[in-house]
Amino acid sequence: MTTRLDDLPLRDDLRGMKPYGAPQAALPVALNVNENTHPVPDDVAGDILDAVARALRDVNRYPDREFTALREAFADYLGEGLTREQIWAGNGSNEVLQHLLQAFAGPGRTAFSFDPTYSMYPLLTRGTGARWVSGVRSHDYTVSPASAAEQISEVRPDVTFLCAPNNPTGTPMSLDVIEAAYDATEGIVIVDEAYQEFAPHDAPSAVSLLPGRERLVVSRTMSKAFAFAGARVGYLAADPALIDALRLVRLPYHLSALTQAAATAALGHADTMLGMVDEIVSQRDRISATVEALGYQAHESWTNFVLFGGVADPAATWQALYDRGVLIRDIGIPHHLRVTAGTADETTAFLDALASIGSGS
Ligand SMILES: *Cc1c(COP(=O)(O)O)cnc(C)c1O
Repeated sequence: MTTRLDDLPLRDDLRGMKPYGAPQAALPVALNVNENTHPVPDDVAGDILDAVARALRDVNRYPDREFTALREAFADYLGEGLTREQIWAGNGSNEVLQHLLQAFAGPGRTAFSFDPTYSMYPLLTRGTGARWVSGVRSHDYTVSPASAAEQISEVRPDVTFLCAPNNPTGTPMSLDVIEAAYDATEGIVIVDEAYQEFAPHDAPSAVSLLPGRERLVVSRTMSKAFAFAGARVGYLAADPALIDALRLVRLPYHLSALTQAAATAALGHADTMLGMVDEIVSQRDRISATVEALGYQAHESWTNFVLFGGVADPAATWQALYDRGVLIRDIGIPHHLRVTAGTADETTAFLDALASIGSGS
C-alpha cells in the first residue's frame, strides 16, 4: 500500500493545501509562466561564465553571508540614492517574500491582498502558519485609494501585499493607492514590482516612496525582465532596520557563491539584459490588439503578459492551443486565459493558433 499525505503526521493547517503547480510541458512555444523567452545574449553569458568559474575556485569556503557586492549592484541598479544597507536578496523573490512572512507573519497573524493576485502569496503565508485574507478589486481589476484604505482598515493585516503591476491581470497600481494602503495599516506593506521594467518608462516605482516609510518594502526579481528565471534571484529595498529583521529568519549562507557571482556579473550588463524589454512590450501590445480583433477582450497590461476575457470555454481553448504546440495559462478566472508575450515568432505562433480555433464568444 502506498503512503498518502493524509497518513503522515502533517501540520493540521497544511492538510488539504495544493502545491504551486504551473504545468512544465516541453512544448515548442511555452508562454505560460511569464518568463523572458529571449535567451541571455552570448557576450553576457561569457562574462557570467567567467565570474562563476572564478567563484568555483573558492567554493570550498562558505560564501559572503552578506552578499555585499551583489547588494551594492542592486542598490546601483535601483538608483534613488539607495545604499546596500537597504537591500536584501534571495533565491528568487519568492524566497525574499518568504523571509518577510517568516519575520512579520507566522502563527496568529494575518496577511492580505486584493484578489485576483499572485497565487504564491497565500501559499507562502500559510506556510508560515499565518492566516490569509483576500480583499476585492473593481470589475476592471483596479483598486482605488479609498477602497484599499477601507478594506485594509477593516482586516488590520500584519502584512499587506500590493502586486504592482498585478499578476495575473496586468493591472497598473498608482502610487496614491500604495500611500493610502500604507497609511491605513500599522503592518508591513510589500509592493511586489516583479514586472516594473515592463511599465511605461515614465511610470514611477514605489522605491520613490521609501524615505520616511520604515514599514514599506519594494520587491523585485531578475526572473522576468532580466531573463534570469533559472538562476533564481530576487531582491528588495527597505529600511535598514527591516533588513535586520530578515537576518533573523534566513538560513546561514542562503545565497550560494555561484548565484552571487552570476547575478553580480549579469547586473554589470543591465542595459544589454534589459535590451529586450521594449521588444517584449511591443509584442504584448500586439497580442492585446490582435485578440481584440479576434473578438476577445484584452485587459490593460503594464507587464509582459496579457489577460484576455470572452473565452467561452477556457479549458477547451487552452487544450486546443496545447494541441497546436502553444502552452499558455488558465489561471482560473472564468472565461479568461493569460498569455506571456514571447519573441515575435512565438507571439505569431500563439496568435495564429488562436485565430485558427475560432473567435471569442
Ligand atoms: C514571477 C513573479 C515573481 C517572481 O518570482 P521569482 O521567485 O523571483 O522567480 C514574484 N512576484 C510575482 C507577482 C510574479 O509574477
